[in-house]
Amino acid sequence: MNHDFLVGTMKINTAHHLEIGGIDTVTLTKEYGTPLFVYDVFQIKQQCQTFIQAFKELGVTAQVAYASKAFSCLAIYQLMAKEGMSLDVVSGGELYTAIQAGFPKERIHFHGNNKTEKEILEALDYQIGCFVVDNFDELALLNRLTTARKQVVNILLRVTPGVEAHTHDYIITGQTDSKFGFDLLNGQGEQAVKLAMEMPYIRLKGLHSHIGSQIFETDGFVMAIEKLLMQAAEWQQTFGFSLEILNVGGGFGIRYTEEDQPLPLAHYIQQIVSTVKEKTKQFALKLPEIWIEPGRSVVGDAGITLYEVGSQKEVPNIRNYLAVDGGMTDNIRPALYDAKYTGVLANRADETAEETYSIAGKCCESGDMLIWDLPLPKAHYQDILAVFATGAYGYAMANNYNRIPRPAVVFVENGKKQVVIQRESYENLIQLDQPLADFY
Ligand SMILES: *Cc1c(COP(=O)(O)O)cnc(C)c1O
Repeated sequence: MNHDFLVGTMKINTAHHLEIGGIDTVTLTKEYGTPLFVYDVFQIKQQCQTFIQAFKELGVTAQVAYASKAFSCLAIYQLMAKEGMSLDVVSGGELYTAIQAGFPKERIHFHGNNKTEKEILEALDYQIGCFVVDNFDELALLNRLTTARKQVVNILLRVTPGVEAHTHDYIITGQTDSKFGFDLLNGQGEQAVKLAMEMPYIRLKGLHSHIGSQIFETDGFVMAIEKLLMQAAEWQQTFGFSLEILNVGGGFGIRYTEEDQPLPLAHYIQQIVSTVKEKTKQFALKLPEIWIEPGRSVVGDAGITLYEVGSQKEVPNIRNYLAVDGGMTDNIRPALYDAKYTGVLANRADETAEETYSIAGKCCESGDMLIWDLPLPKAHYQDILAVFATGAYGYAMANNYNRIPRPAVVFVENGKKQVVIQRESYENLIQLDQPLADFY
């Protein structure tokens, strides 16, 4: 196998098993069943500290906000709080979870393109740190609610800078066709800044942009920062706008397969900070606080999924299907947008691959495939398949299609283990159901 996927404390132990956090994965499956999400807490902490330290070393004031849509539960929020991270939430549900986790309210940032009045009121009640305002309707709603309550709030405006980053390239878009944010090119950004500056209880602190996800280059960030700062300088001149915070979003790439070659995290930060420093100097702006919002790069490669191998189907001369006891219910990304993964047999982790299998889920959907053409040793019934880098947007997108209960999630570190989300039971599945009433 390719050892690049053994991040954090993952290794192959003397039993030839995949080990994580000092614990044998086969033991974990015996104790907690499959499918099972396992997170290497050491690796998560490492990623957080790499971001935070990179800013510290460069001497800039920063907030590193975990984009919690990547994986949201009480325990991860508590871990993020301990690591000194801030937090992005995008719904009332994520906000509620963060509050229940005791996450420091002033470090919570509320995102989303359609925050409801109810959600905004909840966030106002909690007195969270910042709203990232996405559109004119939200701005007007927030103005109305804060005025009625005489409550001051900090906001950033989300703008689309006309730069879209993808894994290996970036696109300069003309008129940005996106459901998110105020467009800079068509003047909506400027209009929003002017409006916000006049709202009595709104404190416009700065600008936000998020240019994409799974980004392996820094060019997109450099270009977006340049555009945002140029705009900020212009608005400072023309109507006294002051940029105190520049939020450049998340999207830092991770390794899912051998093709992925992510940059070291600190490299992104160095490039972002040096661009901000250089451009603020050039445009005669004071250095703003720099905020980022990594999701995937904080939890993505720290998480693996363990499955038990079930049935096999050989289609002669075409392919071998190897079915596991999960699938699109615990990882919908391959079905949803053709996401790629790799994996190993966790119980025979250092055996040579001699077969090629396509890993199928157990759902009634032909598209329910996890990995196409994965080289593995000859697989047997009840082998354990470990899929790497499932920590982001895996459990978070889990669903109950075919009434398959959602897996358990376990945190491990230094031989310690803890279930942070229990496996769903059949009873849980019908908990919200109501028996048929009197239709007969
Ligand atoms: C999804 C998202 C992020 C996090 O993206 P990752 O690729 O997980 O780092 C950050 N900011 C915004 C606004 C997002 O929508």
